[in-house]
Amino acid sequence: MASILITNDDGVFSEGLKLLAEALGEIARVTVVAPDREQSASGHSLTLHRPLRMQQLQENFFSVDGTPTDCVNLGVLWLMKDSPPDLVVSGINFGCNMGDDVTYSGTVSATFEGTLLGIPSVAFSQEVGEEFSFDRAARFAQRFIEILLNEAWPDDMLLNVNIPAGSPRGVELTRLGKRKYKQVVVEKVDPRGRRYFWIAGTPEWQREEGTDHAALSSGLVSVTPLHLDLTDYRGLESYSELRDRFDGLTGDLET
Ligand code: MN
Repeated sequence: MASILITNDDGVFSEGLKLLAEALGEIARVTVVAPDREQSASGHSLTLHRPLRMQQLQENFFSVDGTPTDCVNLGVLWLMKDSPPDLVVSGINFGCNMGDDVTYSGTVSATFEGTLLGIPSVAFSQEVGEEFSFDRAARFAQRFIEILLNEAWPDDMLLNVNIPAGSPRGVELTRLGKRKYKQVVVEKVDPRGRRYFWIAGTPEWQREEGTDHAALSSGLVSVTPLHLDLTDYRGLESYSELRDRFDGLTGDLET
């Protein structure tokens, strides 16, 4: 039987995590290692400057006072060090993780960490809206993972799955969409008369075919293959004219 490490960023008591673990528990051996509190928007943060505490809540169910990335490390490199999981699965997140937002996402970052540790990884996020259902998303996740477990996947498989609110009409392979964030910084004054700031704003998406956002808007499940090579390969071309000038910069640095 396949073995799956599950984590999330909404915390160990989230409904999405519980239903995902139950659904995948029917088709695989499941170990859950999740943050002891909400860690949404924690990104790919790794805790190096304080100790981490792990607590066992049930059989194969652990909480860690750290980030999703910490959880994947403790799961793969400690709890499962003698037999690493076949898959790391993260979610089901309360809310989408699409486009530019994937770099903020703790849910998706857990899968970054999974692949960095050499384990194929999948993130699931559920859109919040009318007819929202973690149950439906968990049933979909079970079928999706069942297919993967029976197929040969690429070595560095990293999939970001977003599930629309309501009954999905199908599944589409997509690329990351672009957001024109109306991000604003709001300044307020606290009861002691000191200024504080709040980063706020609502995302506005560019309407572009083939993106994760377009798929969700059409009621489709979006599956985006990701990779962690952040190299801008187009940049290797477009900066070529500057290269000679950069190259000249290293003369006579010792004065
Ligand atoms: Mn979250």
